[in-house]
Amino acid sequence: MSDSSAPVQVHHPPSMMELLILCRQRPEAALFSGGTWILRSQRSRRFRLPEALVSLRGIDELRRIGRTESRIDIGAAASIQRILTVARTRLPRILRETLESIAPQGIRSLATLGGNVCVPERSMTGFPTLHILDAKLEFRRLGSSRWVPVTSSRDASGTLLIQPGEVLTRIRIPLQPWNVQHFRRIGETPFVEDSNYFSLAFVGRVQRRVLADLRFAVASASPAIYRNRDLENLLVGRRLPLPPRDVSLFLETFDEDIAGSGTRLSGFLRSRGLAVLRRLLSNLPPD
Ligand SMILES: Cc1cc2nc3c(=O)[nH]c(=O)nc-3n(C[C@H](O)[C@H](O)[C@H](O)COP(=O)(O)OP(=O)(O)OC[C@H]3O[C@@H](n4cnc5c(N)ncnc54)[C@H](O)[C@@H]3O)c2cc1C
Repeated sequence: MSDSSAPVQVHHPPSMMELLILCRQRPEAALFSGGTWILRSQRSRRFRLPEALVSLRGIDELRRIGRTESRIDIGAAASIQRILTVARTRLPRILRETLESIAPQGIRSLATLGGNVCVPERSMTGFPTLHILDAKLEFRRLGSSRWVPVTSSRDASGTLLIQPGEVLTRIRIPLQPWNVQHFRRIGETPFVEDSNYFSLAFVGRVQRRVLADLRFAVASASPAIYRNRDLENLLVGRRLPLPPRDVSLFLETFDEDIAGSGTRLSGFLRSRGLAVLRRLLSNLPPD
């Protein structure tokens, strides 16, 4: 880290190849995409930036957005506002709602989805949504690339599993036939450890009055998200609407589980979160 008096070296590679070469030569350098998290996370009044920054702004390939019948690929350095503008009608509704909830619009014009995914020690707002949508991340370094499911991109403590010299290049989101999609957010920002923050990403597939699939994940001020697939599966295969007693039993189990999961939710946020989940489960459309 450099303090405000030490010069920071800023590199501007103009192409992917030059970026990857630079990342091999300077694996300790911080990648600077929109820079909004890097700058916002300064805790002291004196700026402390990494000694070397590598800007991703000059690389067109990292800003591309493409779509096929079955998926959407988003370049890691595409700004959130651009994704919302260019791909608005093609994004799964839950992803659109998630992106719209991140930061004010001016910040979203700089902030990128890749930067959101790569905040090293904390799962940010986009993460639970990408998790339940089965998104995949493409990491590249000189001479190799790998695709990693978002579900295995962080360890249990919430830390991003990225190798030295690697760059996140694309985020691939499968387009699945979810007919229930909700994103709900309560509270402050996910920045600080003790902030009052809760967000819920929730998708379901209903077929002939039966809940054929259900997924949900919760983000809070704690670094890792909460998701329990066993709990999700308790409701899969059930006829709709769910009886109120079953919803209550489910929520009791969820409440005990999330309380013991290390997720830092205040009593107030937990009860607001439970109320949101009760509403969503009670109102699952029969078709
Ligand atoms: C006022 C304000 C409000 C905000 N509110 C929210 C909010 O509600 N929810 C939320 O989630 N965030 C919020 N943020 C934080 C931030 O704006 C977002 O998380 C944003 O998406 C980060 O993207 P970025 O491009 O600016 O990341 P950067 O700051 O450029 O980078 C973030 C981290 O990812 C690394 N990185 C970036 N790109 C790559 C890459 N391609 N490969 C590997 N590593 C990479 C960087 O080295 C850094 O460690 C807010 C910020 C501000 C200033």
